[in-house]
Amino acid sequence: MNLNLTVLMYHYVRDAGDAAEAGSGIRGMSKQKFCAQVDTIARTYEMVSWKDVREAVLEKKPLPERACLLTFDDGVCDHYWNVFPELARRKLSGLFFALARAEDANLPLPFKLHFLIARLGLENLRAEIWNRLNESQRAIYREAEVRYRLRGKAETDVVKGIFQRDLADAVNPLLSELIAQHIGSEQELARQLFLNDAQIKEMRAGGMHFGGHSATHPWFDFISPAQRADEIRASREGLTRVEQPPFAFAYPYGGLADDAPQLFQQNHFCAAFTTRASVTHADPFYIGRFDGEEWQ
Ligand SMILES: [Zn+2]
Repeated sequence: MNLNLTVLMYHYVRDAGDAAEAGSGIRGMSKQKFCAQVDTIARTYEMVSWKDVREAVLEKKPLPERACLLTFDDGVCDHYWNVFPELARRKLSGLFFALARAEDANLPLPFKLHFLIARLGLENLRAEIWNRLNESQRAIYREAEVRYRLRGKAETDVVKGIFQRDLADAVNPLLSELIAQHIGSEQELARQLFLNDAQIKEMRAGGMHFGGHSATHPWFDFISPAQRADEIRASREGLTRVEQPPFAFAYPYGGLADDAPQLFQQNHFCAAFTTRASVTHADPFYIGRFDGEEWQ
């Protein structure tokens, strides 16, 4: 297969004080910048939907030249408040990779980090966590810190990487404690942050499409094969209520694993999107994307 397709990837789209930001302090791409970018892209590209891409993947139906697909990760409410109305107004479709989650569930780990970094700052959060780690956990921290720094990671990504990967199990409950202490009800934050079933339904009826993005947003290169299978199965179960199979998937953080394509096939997924910038795609389970934040 050789698919020529430019795929844009977006996360938070919000302005301070709007319905999506809701006083959280979590920043995103401004709505104005997003709209201007979509208008520019729509003038220069042939905009396609997930339906078009799925037909190209499954039936080898050709895509137009300079085809472009807009994708949105994490199923955050920004996509209902700030993205969906703008796409609908322009008669465009988007592919939204939402997490498989129950409406009363707590926040997955990376979103706890978003709230706490916005509230405390990264350095304070790091110190709060460090104070709560035991000696063996601190040793794991120090060892991982050296490893990520050697890989040339920015200091923010070093800390986040350790919390999201090496110390995830230890840090996860500590983050919940800190949210309760400094912000409030985690369940309530999660309810406000993520798209609810009614919003997803309305977006579907308005021509938007949904794909999977796991349940807990782990790094696929870091978890076990059994965990990967669980995460992908959870996505399939969540999507069955909103989409026609076969489905699309986006790798959380862009983390890859060699056994993922096989798990996708077993769970009725026909395409998966990465975070590697590329316009030609030889394998439907590794479709590259460009970050809208960095797009010129
Ligand atoms: Zn994500």
